Amino acid sequence: MMGAPGAGKGTQTRLLSEKYGYPQISTGDLLREMSQAETPLARQLKETISSGALVSDEVLADLIISRTSAEDCKNGYILDGFPRTLIQANLLDDLAQRQGNEIRVFSVALSMDCLLKRLSGRRTCTLCGEIYNIFFRPPKREGFCDNDQAPLQQRSDDFEESVNRRLAAYQEMTLPLIDYYRKGGRLKEIDGQRSVAEVFAKLSESIDDI
Ligand code: AMP
Repeated sequence: MMGAPGAGKGTQTRLLSEKYGYPQISTGDLLREMSQAETPLARQLKETISSGALVSDEVLADLIISRTSAEDCKNGYILDGFPRTLIQANLLDDLAQRQGNEIRVFSVALSMDCLLKRLSGRRTCTLCGEIYNIFFRPPKREGFCDNDQAPLQQRSDDFEESVNRRLAAYQEMTLPLIDYYRKGGRLKEIDGQRSVAEVFAKLSESIDDI
């Protein structure tokens, strides 16, 4: 699942994972988890992620090879936020070939204006991970989750400076991959400007067509 930061990849991947039963592999979530450890690598990861820059391809290679070799991935998996560079896309091609998988790419596209609001307005539940947006999907009680009343939190990389860096990294490093997959005939582009339910319906339709 590809798309700029804020395009709704995480939300859609979660829904697809529930519907089709493939595990969701979010490299952003995995890296944030890894960054919680008390090691020099974890500290470095935390800094890189907060700044909005991309983590090195070497770290991503280890992460993706180890996660996709787990038992729950044997029938396939949904990648959310990977690949983000051409080196990662090449790695995925090799990996898919070795695993006997076929790669299908869905790209969710959104205007820059909307991406900025999505990112700066995003709040996440500290307990269940539910995602809200103060502009588009506010919780019933400001600052607290509807599901479990736990406090909501803003991601450290959703502040303005990091958001700008993340969008720049996307334009520079990840956008060229869209062309790479389009040329290979493996890409389906979806208009992300619609509601979560409409985008999900379009994605499901495309998957059912495969
Ligand atoms: P995300 O939650 O997908 O927006 O990812 C959050 C942050 O994790 C990104 O801004 C990067 O710092 C890092 N990250 C996630 N996936 C990748 C990837 N495939 N390659 C490099 N860095 C990544």
